[in-house]
Amino acid sequence: MSCIFCRIVAGEIPAEIVASDDGGVAFLDLQPLADGHTLIVPRVHAPSIEALDATASDRLFRLVRRLADPVRRAVGAAGSTIGINNGEATGQTIPHVHVHIVPRWPDDGAGSIHTIFPRRTSRSLADVAAAIRKATAE
Ligand code: AMP
Ligand code: ZN
Repeated sequence: MSCIFCRIVAGEIPAEIVASDDGGVAFLDLQPLADGHTLIVPRVHAPSIEALDATASDRLFRLVRRLADPVRRAVGAAGSTIGINNGEATGQTIPHVHVHIVPRWPDDGAGSIHTIFPRRTSRSLADVAAAIRKATAE
């Protein structure tokens, strides 16, 4: 098995595991962006959120929800940024879905999700919404 997160799920390599259930395994990021930076990974290998079936994704997000408050309280944070780099083009470095919970403080120097985008669009909202509705119906 070559996937590093599959190996953590299988207990083959060590990690600071903080929770584990049928939704997946939660462990501390080895190179934390902040104290308490936690990764939650599904038990099954899937490179992206789209590749997870509905049950696996429901269980994964239930575990994320279960952990959000304890992670924040454990480090005395004011909130958390919760996100997924979903696909290589987004900067995802490990092709096994993982949800980041990064604790946040008002003066931590990081921005909101909006600050990672240069706001580059070319199509109207109506045009894009119609395209997404069509794709969703397929
Ligand atoms: P991403 O850029 O979304 O693919 O994030 C991958 C994350 O996995 C990075 O924040 C890494 O620091 C973290 N990481 C890589 N290897 C390990 C490991 N063995 N244990 C814990 N975290 C890891
Ligand atoms: Zn994997």
